[in-house]
Amino acid sequence: MIPVTRRFVVANGALAAGGTVVGFNSMGALADVAAEIDQFVKGPPVKPQPVKRISAHVFMIQAPDGFPTPENQGLMSNVTFVIGEKGVIVVDTGASLQIAEMALRQLKTVTDKPVVGVVNTHYHGDHWLGNQALVEAYGDDLPRYAHRGTRLAIEGAQGAFWHEAMIKWTNEATLGTRIVPPNIDVDHGYVLSLGDVHLKIHHYGKAHTPSDIIVEVVEDGVMCVGDVLMDRRIANMDDGSYPGTFSTLDSLVEHSHTQIWLPAHGNAGPGVLAWHRTLFEGIYQSCLDAVRQGIPLEGALAHALQDERVSSRAKETRGWDKNIGKYVSLAYLEAEQALF
Ligand SMILES: [Zn+2]
Repeated sequence: MIPVTRRFVVANGALAAGGTVVGFNSMGALADVAAEIDQFVKGPPVKPQPVKRISAHVFMIQAPDGFPTPENQGLMSNVTFVIGEKGVIVVDTGASLQIAEMALRQLKTVTDKPVVGVVNTHYHGDHWLGNQALVEAYGDDLPRYAHRGTRLAIEGAQGAFWHEAMIKWTNEATLGTRIVPPNIDVDHGYVLSLGDVHLKIHHYGKAHTPSDIIVEVVEDGVMCVGDVLMDRRIANMDDGSYPGTFSTLDSLVEHSHTQIWLPAHGNAGPGVLAWHRTLFEGIYQSCLDAVRQGIPLEGALAHALQDERVSSRAKETRGWDKNIGKYVSLAYLEAEQALF
């Protein structure tokens, strides 16, 4: 893997810079060089973010930014803690070792209970690259729950892609992070108990990815939706589906008593579902309309932007300019299929 090569190069650079490639005469000198190398191969700590209380059992480290940069060191998605009698379950672990280490330091300011499990909602890297910090703190056997499709993607090409991409996007701030995949497959209906609070897994097929799981914190009326809903942000929808998202949202509403929708990007609150769904309906329905009118794919974006549900969101939505074209293209292709 590429990080091995990078480590090798960086390590040699550090040794050469020290001018002591040969002639170590004590273990102390070796340890000094090892520490120096470690600093080179591991990015710096992430500065603390406050822990926000969402409900009786749910707390969140909220990422101020929506996209990874060298400045934010990849802190682009929320890390959620569900704290119960038996311990803590972390839902999505952030985009790096350093982010999850920060999250764990912050967790200790609100509870001294141990982490007893991790849930990864899907395979995009900002939702699981922090797993390493959890196993370093709580052991390699720490349960890490995900859909089977998510685990396989992280063990395969998606895992390698996201690991390397995050290092690049953050200008190496996430160096030192390694891939720690989920280790327990879960599917729709699975329930995790923390004694006084229960986490129920929902999966209704392809929405944001083919293998999203959504985590209901039953007693609190909180639904941790991963990226199935976002709050004032659009980004990667390359592996998703509009009709799939609508049917997932319908099912979530039907099968829960959700008060608070907690997305992995942006604020949690009762209005997140309506915000996201209105935008998606505007995009998808205008694409259905475009296909019916014989407007080609190239004209679909302009047509969608005539819909007030779409155009009114441009200013307040992070990632708009970069992603709205891709969003509309996907919607158009799905609309074509639906009407074929
Ligand atoms: Zn995602």
